[in-house]
Amino acid sequence: MLVIGLTGGIGSGKTAASDYFSSLGITVVDADLASRTVVQPGQPALDQIAKRFGDHMINADLSLNRAALRELVFSDKQALKALEAITHPAIRTELLNQLQQSQSPYTILVSPLLLETNQHQLTDRVLLIDAEEKVQIDRTVQRDKVPSQQVEAIMAAQMPRHTKQSKADDIALNNGDLAALHGKLNALHQTYLKLAQNS
Ligand code: ATP
Repeated sequence: MLVIGLTGGIGSGKTAASDYFSSLGITVVDADLASRTVVQPGQPALDQIAKRFGDHMINADLSLNRAALRELVFSDKQALKALEAITHPAIRTELLNQLQQSQSPYTILVSPLLLETNQHQLTDRVLLIDAEEKVQIDRTVQRDKVPSQQVEAIMAAQMPRHTKQSKADDIALNNGDLAALHGKLNALHQTYLKLAQNS
């Protein structure tokens, strides 16, 4: 099974790209969704979070108290490490399960943290959706109705664009319109179909 890891910075167009692969009939496994699945009520990772950080991390309806957890790990690096030690293996197992169930010729694993975590180890090839910083900021401001400084702060905390470029096998530059992006992705789709046939 050929797995293509799809990543990119904030507002680069990961969702736009993965939606297009989906429309071509390619299964898309989403690491963001998986990270929410593993902390649903009844999941072992949620119990571990309560044991490690206290019962106040769980709401009365048994869901994760995201605000409390965010506040804790924002100010405490050790706590963030401890949280990741709980969630990352659970997310990896969830992703592996979903990848194994895929029936399409190849599978896309979309993750904003593909290169920052060991999730890239689940992939055969990395596709970076890349856009100039100004484009990322403008599109995110428009989409989320947030100040540009907020987007810039998030970008500053992410892996630098040039580092991502150096780690990618394929790069789709997404500075133009959606038709231009789709054209580039369609060419990559043909390449991935051939790779899948030969693997
Ligand atoms: P995030 O990491 O913040 O979730 P993302 O990488 O998934 O972002 P998208 O949500 O796909 O990025 O794109 C950001 C915004 O820009 C969206 O509103 C999307 O519709 C728009 N967009 C993406 N690509 C293009 C394009 N080529 N032309 C016009 N708008 C685009």
